[in-house]
Amino acid sequence: MKNYFRKEISGMSGYVPGEQPKMDNLVKLNTNENPYPPSPAVAEVLRTFDSAMLRRYPDPMADQLRDAIAARFGARRSNIVIGNGSDDILTMVFRAFTAPGLPMAMLRPSYSLYAELAAMQGARVIDIRLELPDFSLPENLLETASDANLLIITRPNAPTGNSFSRILIENICRKFDGMVLIDEAYADFADDNCMDFALRFDNVIVMRTFSKSYSLAGIRLGYAVASEPVVEGLMKLKDSYNSDALAQAVGLAAFMDREHLENNCRKIIAERSRLTAGLRGLGFAVVESQSNFLFASPCDGDGGRCFEELRRRAVVTRYFPGETTGRYVRITVGSPAENDRVLECLREIYAR
Ligand SMILES: *Cc1c(COP(=O)(O)O)cnc(C)c1O
Repeated sequence: MKNYFRKEISGMSGYVPGEQPKMDNLVKLNTNENPYPPSPAVAEVLRTFDSAMLRRYPDPMADQLRDAIAARFGARRSNIVIGNGSDDILTMVFRAFTAPGLPMAMLRPSYSLYAELAAMQGARVIDIRLELPDFSLPENLLETASDANLLIITRPNAPTGNSFSRILIENICRKFDGMVLIDEAYADFADDNCMDFALRFDNVIVMRTFSKSYSLAGIRLGYAVASEPVVEGLMKLKDSYNSDALAQAVGLAAFMDREHLENNCRKIIAERSRLTAGLRGLGFAVVESQSNFLFASPCDGDGGRCFEELRRRAVVTRYFPGETTGRYVRITVGSPAENDRVLECLREIYAR
């Protein structure tokens, strides 16, 4: 058949999301989902939601939710844009700041969706290789990225899980002559964040999601915070009704229950320490994590084998082939029982 697609699309392999496997007694630790349910306020919204209202279009601007988010961060409604998941925010950002031949810069390794979105736009990608062994930022980042119109900093980073010094990022935001997107998908699990940069710098967008810390991956909700002119520009690119009425109501309820969020994050952070210690005890090299997952390398350096052996035991993790990433598996921090199961399987796999 004749190929009717644009050459950029034909040349793409397409983003491959983490699998949603169907197995008995599955321990699913491959997509950084939260092991705990969302706030009880979410269940209450779902119980009382008037389905008759679904005949109406949702608020295209999601103003109630934007007001709640703005109040939390000392911002204004006009500083916030809502997305159908933060992946939707990424689509807006790529449409806004990338074009054929125009370079954009991203960390390597990092979230692989960025490269797919860049390919769709025909944008040239500048790779910023993180320094081994701890996946830290290279000293020459600003020189490497200098031609780029868009720079994405994932903080904490995925799939490595580590964070970067706030002072370093602040300096980058100040000096980089282009838009800086700080992807804070995992910020609620970290010691600090860069939200204030979004309000202090004209060229900074900070992006968050409800998928991880709020336990709402199924509802598809994310947001970005930026200066008014940047938000105004992104609004032009947004699908009019990109967040539905149910997502807005559920998201608002979850967002207001701060205690639930903080309790769950605290539990996950405690388990993160315990799982890190357990893995190190088994001889794994584990990247110091500020997120809800661990990037861990077995002593034989064969991440693929580790992934396969765990999978045979119905423990599903994520493996990223490649010279560096292939030495690791990425393991989501699960419930205490799930984490025990991972450690038990690994003891069996690596017992001599
Ligand atoms: C999970 C994740 C996202 C996307 O989250 P959604 O809101 O579910 O689309 C964005 N960036 C990173 C780094 C992530 O890990």
